Amino acid sequence: APILDVRDAGLRYKNGHVVWQGLNVTIHPGEWVAILGPNGAGKSTFLKTVGGLMDPTQGQVLLKGKNLSKYRAPELYDAVGFVFQNPEHQFIADTVYEEVAFGGKVAGWPQEQIERETTQLLTDFRLLDLRDKNPFTLSQGQKRRLSVAGMLLKRQEVLLLDEPTFGQDAATTAELLQRMQERNIAGTTILMATHDVELVAEYASRVLVIGDGTLLFDGTPHDLFQQP
Ligand code: ADP
Ligand code: ADP
Repeated sequence: APILDVRDAGLRYKNGHVVWQGLNVTIHPGEWVAILGPNGAGKSTFLKTVGGLMDPTQGQVLLKGKNLSKYRAPELYDAVGFVFQNPEHQFIADTVYEEVAFGGKVAGWPQEQIERETTQLLTDFRLLDLRDKNPFTLSQGQKRRLSVAGMLLKRQEVLLLDEPTFGQDAATTAELLQRMQERNIAGTTILMATHDVELVAEYASRVLVIGDGTLLFDGTPHDLFQQP
């Protein structure tokens, strides 16, 4: 069964701007879907819509067969993780440790589990030495690693990544993608907006191209890059 089903979806902002319409996309568990398209095409808006941050103004989005608008926040946050374009938009805690531990606390995990899994993620993302720092004082690369580490704690079935490697150096980009790939191999579905076609060719199993207010391409990276 599909994990995400976008049916004839359209999104029109309150100011009347129609970002896209007539979007039909069915995504199965374990897919890694890259979303390409020019600036302003509506890639962020698409991720926000399939992540339940915005309701489509036309059509519907189903997550595991259930209309997204019927999900309550805790159930939605258990199923879907979001990494925003700007990592700072995500920070809510006073320390790096608390930032990662937050999801476990809200979910009422036992203290021992929170400590073990938070410490593991801080180690994997080379943030353990910074555990007591305020997230806003970190470098750009550290902030990005923290935003991804914080999202991964809950082991959600779907990860939505908006330009997760934007502004990162090659080493950090490779490291972030390695961590995502581990999750993807374990069955996590990934949707990732990006401008980086090399990254698409290497990691994505499927590409959506959004442009001209609609879905312009839906296929494999191989087919996209073969086009004349
Ligand atoms: P992308 O991620 O592909 O760069 P976005 O989804 O951020 O595109 O934006 C799509 C279009 O919608 C852009 O023209 C943007 O300016 C516009 N837009 C984004 N948010 C809003 C909003 N809250 N109100 C009106 N227009 C918006
Ligand atoms: P993010 O990727 O973290 O959403 P952005 O800088 O793209 O950050 O957008 C910040 C906020 O401004 C978002 O809530 C977005 O919807 C809104 N926004 C973006 N473009 C426009 C626009 N053209 N008109 C009105 N609001 C917009």
